[in-house]
Amino acid sequence: MVALIIHGGAGNMSGRLAGAKKSALQNIVLETSSLLKGGAQSLAAVEYAVKLLEDDPLFNAGRGSYPNMEGMVEMDAIIVEGTSLNFGAVAGIRNVGNPVVVARKVLDQGKCCLLAGEGATRFAAANGFEFVPDEELASKTDRPTGALGTVGAVALDSKGGIAAATSTGGTARKPPGRVGDSPLIGCGAIADSLVGGVSATGEGEFLMRIMISRVVLDCLQQGSSPGEAAAHAIDLLGKRVQGKGGVICLNGSGQTGYAFNTPGMAVAYINGKGETGVSV
Ligand code: ASP
Repeated sequence: MVALIIHGGAGNMSGRLAGAKKSALQNIVLETSSLLKGGAQSLAAVEYAVKLLEDDPLFNAGRGSYPNMEGMVEMDAIIVEGTSLNFGAVAGIRNVGNPVVVARKVLDQGKCCLLAGEGATRFAAANGFEFVPDEELASKTDRPTGALGTVGAVALDSKGGIAAATSTGGTARKPPGRVGDSPLIGCGAIADSLVGGVSATGEGEFLMRIMISRVVLDCLQQGSSPGEAAAHAIDLLGKRVQGKGGVICLNGSGQTGYAFNTPGMAVAYINGKGETGVSV
């Protein structure tokens, strides 16, 4: 049994882009789940899915990232391996096309978990990542805030391994150096193969105050279904800190769930029973 759930952000999904986002998400679920069915590990699967989402300018991650208030693109990403609980993350990284692949390199290298700013950008260059200028990364049209979304993926592989990843260009017109929830463990993502995995999106300043992904995981651990766990965390986000966002998650039985309190959220999944769904 395998399962996969991915998202393309929570916010004011624009009607014009909705159809294109839907088919992009569907294709990525199809492609990534066939890798999982062929025996790929969950870590490789979430990296693969998020890389495809970063490559698609419809989403605010990699190509398509919102520039900051000075016009520079600074990106955040995390990838979590739920069997070891180890993770790799980059914050405020510049001039790379796939921050999630750099995060995976940080994880594999094992010297640290989170690299930030110039150090992260230099790490990518030293490891052979191609330099991508801001003009290629920055979202082309001046779309309203929230029209493009952060991306994420959570996967369960055939051996029971769970992994999660999240990648973002951050909030539109953010101040230089601003880091959101996405690269922070327990905030932007978390995974534990004994319990489940989570990826979050929304207003980072609020998501991190309640460590939203950790809240979802705790609920799963206490026996909530993924749907209940996601709904509880979003309820807490709204009630406790008046935040807006969305979460996706799955558990070790291959059940998937998601919830959001924004006007829309882009999600696609295949659960352990092989049932698929997509919503934008
Ligand atoms: N959570 C991201 C951030 O605050 C943005 C988003 O998910 O849309 O950087």
